[in-house]
Amino acid sequence: MVAYRSSMVERTELPSRGRRERAIEDAGYNVFNLASRDVYVDLLTDSGTGTMSTDQWAALLGGDESYAGSESFEQLEESVRDVMGFPRIVPAHQGRGAENVLYGSLVSEGDVVLNNTHFDTTRAHVANQGAEPVDCPAPGAFDPDGEGDFRGNFSVDRGYEVVDRVGADRVPVVILTITNNSAAGQPVSVENTRRVREFADRIGATFVIDACRFAENAGFVRAREGEFEGDPIADIAREQLSYADALVMSGKKDGLSNAGGFVALREEDLHEQCRQRGILYEGFPTYGGMAGRDMAALAVGLREAVEEGYVEGRLERVRTLGNLLAERGVPIYTPTGGHAVYVDAGEVFPDIPPEAFPGQTFVCELYREGGVRGVELGSFAFPGADRPDLVRLAVPRRSYHREHFEHVADAAAAVTNRENVRGLEIVSEPSTPELRHFTAELRPR
Ligand SMILES: *Cc1c(COP(=O)(O)O)cnc(C)c1O
Repeated sequence: MVAYRSSMVERTELPSRGRRERAIEDAGYNVFNLASRDVYVDLLTDSGTGTMSTDQWAALLGGDESYAGSESFEQLEESVRDVMGFPRIVPAHQGRGAENVLYGSLVSEGDVVLNNTHFDTTRAHVANQGAEPVDCPAPGAFDPDGEGDFRGNFSVDRGYEVVDRVGADRVPVVILTITNNSAAGQPVSVENTRRVREFADRIGATFVIDACRFAENAGFVRAREGEFEGDPIADIAREQLSYADALVMSGKKDGLSNAGGFVALREEDLHEQCRQRGILYEGFPTYGGMAGRDMAALAVGLREAVEEGYVEGRLERVRTLGNLLAERGVPIYTPTGGHAVYVDAGEVFPDIPPEAFPGQTFVCELYREGGVRGVELGSFAFPGADRPDLVRLAVPRRSYHREHFEHVADAAAAVTNRENVRGLEIVSEPSTPELRHFTAELRPR
């Protein structure tokens, strides 16, 4: 089911094969360097790339751009209270700004921070405080052929192992990322959330939920966790978030907006600390780096994100892309997660060794074949990490139709069936290896 229709459109075009060949070569075989006009279906990310509703556009026009005491801020605050159950917020320009505000307030040098899996910017902000980010994923979280309804879960056993090793006083924060973005967008159960709450209480840590995809996660909980069968999405989302002391949120994900983010808090002291840090890095506490109009659009987007029709359709859309790919013999991570389908490029190109980047090769071939832009999350993006060579096809919210997904699946199938594909080698790369997939340039081997 689709719970909306289009009332504004953006023209797109499939560039000719010749233009695509030239474009990818000029881009140094790195799709981050492609101009968006050269891309036909853009599955690079689901972050800030969604389509806003007419209600969001209407709210945007009513944005209050006052520096202090903005009415749009009050609307956002009220929305967070209603939808997420948190009484206080500190706005930020996007999710990573919120991470800086919260983790800069909670984490100190020498600390250890636990997370089911740290998302890239979370890992970087924890490390930036001089602390050590440690992942505690559920067993099999990274296995493309694994099984399980909640493979995004936090392994509390691993958490206790780390605490036994380093001591509870070095672990001030435990984070639960829902859905688990870095583990193929797999969901986290409410039961697991309760166990992480208990764990955090035991070791005296602050429990933070990274709620970027809290609505998608609630959709999975309703479908898979017996206790919640038939419950409204809005109730499930509020219950799951109720276990946390604080939230980090990116408005560009389940805020259904193109910008923005915030920290949500219960406790007054931590709120005050975050407000002070927010002023330093983001802006005055009633706008925090967002325009008033962006806060107004986000306030509406948060409410729409937990509407029944929206969440069902969203998960169905991603599942559809996964099914179309699987039907055509393209190996994917199953079951599909909340925001993207992951192709196992290592299986597509068994003859290309990791050092010749099978994932990045798949990404470039997919662009050449169909003007489709995905992103590599394997040996190119994570040098030295022991991870499968996955390619992520992220689905922007409310933007693409089944015809687009059929086109993507046909192109991916053509790439999968291609023989004699050579890998790539790096020509130039930046000095920070963690950021190399954004700017490095490559060429065919
Ligand atoms: C996107 C994301 C962030 C950071 O948000 P931005 O708005 O991109 O800065 C943090 N955590 C998770 C899980 C995310 O997906």
